[in-house]
Amino acid sequence: MSTEKFCQSCSMPLDSKAVLGTEKDGSASLEYCKFCYQHGAFVHPEMTLAGMEYRVRARMAKLDLPADLVNLAVGRLPFLKRWSGAAPRQNMGPVGAAPSDKDH
Ligand SMILES: [Zn+2]
Repeated sequence: MSTEKFCQSCSMPLDSKAVLGTEKDGSASLEYCKFCYQHGAFVHPEMTLAGMEYRVRARMAKLDLPADLVNLAVGRLPFLKRWSGAAPRQNMGPVGAAPSDKDH
């Protein structure tokens, strides 16, 4: 496994199926973790980037992670899909396979 994926909302590593969020149809989300995204919607739709930074810092502090790592994770937040201005795909109907979505 060389592809590292991060939740596009909170930047936590999506390294296990157990942490993946869920789409509206119950399938696993490949972009968001279950703490951010469930049943095709954000768990905290009112969350702001500043609020997420605070949450990530608090969570990582609990895990006693080094400050460098915390700053790296927080610094990554503004570039994630949720915060970079690229809205998550809405469920407006069937969508063709995305060009970057090659599973086979
Ligand atoms: Zn997340």
